[in-house]
Amino acid sequence: MTSAPALAGPAYDVLNRVFGYADFRGGQREIIEHVIGGGDALVLMPTGGGKSLCYQIPALVREGTGVVISPLIALMQDQVDALRTLGVRAGFLNSTQDPEERRLTEQLYVAGELDLLYVAPEGLGVPSTQRLLDRGRIALFAIDEAHCVSQWGHDFRPDYLNLSMLHERWPQVPRIALTATATSATREEIATRLGLTGARHFTASFDRPNIQYRIVAKNEPRRQLLDLLRTEHPGDAGIVCCLSRASVDRTAEFLVQNGIAALPYHAGLDARTRAANQSRFLREDGLIMVATIAFGMGIDKPDVRFVAHLDLPKSVEGYYQETGRAGRDGLPSTAWLAYGLQDVVQQRKMIETSEGDLAHRRNLAAHLDAMLALCETVQCRRAQLLAYFGQSAEPTCGNCDTCLTPPESWDGTVAAQKLLSTVLRLQRERGQKFGAGQSIDILLGKTTEKVQQFRHHELSVFGIGTDLREQEWRGVVRQLLAQGLLAVEGEYGTLTLTDASTAVLRKERQVMMRREPERTRAPKARRASSGGAAPATDLDPAGAAAFERLRAWRAAAAKEAGVPAYVIFHDATLRQIAALRPGSLTELSTVGGVGETKLARFGQQVLETLAG
Ligand code: ADP
Ligand code: ZN
Repeated sequence: MTSAPALAGPAYDVLNRVFGYADFRGGQREIIEHVIGGGDALVLMPTGGGKSLCYQIPALVREGTGVVISPLIALMQDQVDALRTLGVRAGFLNSTQDPEERRLTEQLYVAGELDLLYVAPEGLGVPSTQRLLDRGRIALFAIDEAHCVSQWGHDFRPDYLNLSMLHERWPQVPRIALTATATSATREEIATRLGLTGARHFTASFDRPNIQYRIVAKNEPRRQLLDLLRTEHPGDAGIVCCLSRASVDRTAEFLVQNGIAALPYHAGLDARTRAANQSRFLREDGLIMVATIAFGMGIDKPDVRFVAHLDLPKSVEGYYQETGRAGRDGLPSTAWLAYGLQDVVQQRKMIETSEGDLAHRRNLAAHLDAMLALCETVQCRRAQLLAYFGQSAEPTCGNCDTCLTPPESWDGTVAAQKLLSTVLRLQRERGQKFGAGQSIDILLGKTTEKVQQFRHHELSVFGIGTDLREQEWRGVVRQLLAQGLLAVEGEYGTLTLTDASTAVLRKERQVMMRREPERTRAPKARRASSGGAAPATDLDPAGAAAFERLRAWRAAAAKEAGVPAYVIFHDATLRQIAALRPGSLTELSTVGGVGETKLARFGQQVLETLAG
């Protein structure tokens, strides 16, 4: 590495030797140099961007132990196992540990025999833990998932507020805070609350080009999901996100009944079942986790091929973080969301009836509006997502649904007027409020029981909307709600006008709408299936056969070591090995992801498997 700057020498050395990677990605080098030099840093990188190396390498280069604060207790064991497989001396302290194990970890720390120590934020507040840390040498503090300090955010953890004490107690120790989700407002909040106002900010590109973003109109969500899984992701591992526990259970059951291996994960399950399901998801190939949003933060399973949302997420930040769990290995992946009228009604209702002051409700509403704008856009989804995070992008990305099958937009002004005047007439002439279904029945001229009961067939708007189908009317209502031209109220989600409705009714305002493509089949370009279980398409037949043999070997090795398969080697690494088919350890060591320790431990077995 003669071309590397002098300061990066030891960092490059660790990158090559320990992690087996040839070069830094994105902003990693700059961040790592800055922290090695003792500087504080606030790092914003998308999920899968490579945040871990930003503190792991400085911890290995600087004298002492890197202390990593992470809220993800359930993952600490896996993180530590993965590091140990790389030959890194790592340990953790948290409440799930037995006393003997804890004592051992503490001893190692004090003796200076740990490179990295993971601790839970609540643990750091305990005086005995603080005294323990004083007895060893701290190389740095890494504050992972730093957005947890944000009270407006979606993952707030009260213990994070205390972390500003790190600087007061250990002013000499550099701190690096990392998060995958932050608009500029959240970024300021993180810096202030953690006392990181003097820290250098590093913002990587938030783009995740290997993820194909798609948002479809919801009609039969579970059927649509099944269709996606069968046609595009057979045998792939993935995450299905639902908002409620009941819907998690129903969906997991539905998938299992249809012959797809799926597990539920939500706060209503007991801790042991949750831990067991998470562990199976990480360890076994091709499982699907159906989960509430409580699942998946910090999961570093690299081969999650899709993230599917069956309910509308509450914010773009949350959505982007959840979808970011797909494709950390850089291979093609899908982020798929089914979204419909009921989602908008439900969420608006939830906000309206939520506890908390006006400012809080306004904040929720602003988050929802941004999410709805993303759903209803006729422009590139990726460009809109990146703009939300303050990043400019090409106007078209070529790898989202609107770029691949551009939706038409149509002038929906007249339809909007018809719908709004129905709501107005019900209100003015009858003093009544109804949900979307009744208004649509009136427009379509349906003489249902309810229409007759309320004599709605006598309204002048009865039957004036037969030019659109029911599904299209639902789209009109949804888009009016999304654009704030209509609102929902109360427990039943009845429709009501807003201040902005008036301009439409007075013909002062044009309303453009999105027309859904007839059938949202898988877009053709850049198909998102990497074929997790199928042989890699980019390999020749001999390579594909080698890849299959390597996978089988890896499964056995992982079982023996009691770690997830990807801790041994990632798919991407196995693929490279299968393509190269090296004949010697030296040749094998050139493959990305094969570091010194893994070479010594698994190299011979890999060569034998190839010769096999
Ligand atoms: P994040 O924490 O930002 O979500 P990770 O730190 O888990 O991301 O990294 C994502 C993936 O990228 C991991 O599988 C990691 O091994 C890999 N990776 C990180 N940095 C590099 C690099 N410089 N070269 C190759 N792979 C890398
Ligand atoms: Zn696009």
